[in-house]
Amino acid sequence: MADCLFCGIANREIKGSIVYENETVVVFKDINPRAPVHLLIIPRKHVATLLDLGEEDKGILSEIFSAANRLAESHGIAGDGFRVVVNCGPAAGQSVYHIHFHLLGGRTLGWPPG
Ligand code: AMP
Ligand code: ZN
Repeated sequence: MADCLFCGIANREIKGSIVYENETVVVFKDINPRAPVHLLIIPRKHVATLLDLGEEDKGILSEIFSAANRLAESHGIAGDGFRVVVNCGPAAGQSVYHIHFHLLGGRTLGWPPG
């Protein structure tokens, strides 16, 4: 989608630190990391929020969680534990309206989140 930051990163029109990509998903480093490992996993398809995912997007979810597991392993956080988070809408603090799954790890993560 035009004027979408994360579509721009996925298309390489905007600079991003991409660490993994395939036909369905792109993974890049969060620009303001909140943990030693903080990656953002996005579908190439522009979907604004979790609420906008449809039945036809089930394959995307499967690819996203496969990528999360693979990247947790490759970044050395699978053993100690990690978190996958989606912020949906303003009260949750969603600031970029292209759905993204935060993969966080490398430190003890507090619960509940603020
Ligand atoms: P959220 O608040 O859940 O919408 O998360 C948006 C995330 O995108 C934040 O953690 C930001 O630090 C991150 N972010 C914003 N701009 C960029 C960018 N250009 N490259 C990488 N991450 C970004
Ligand atoms: Zn987008």
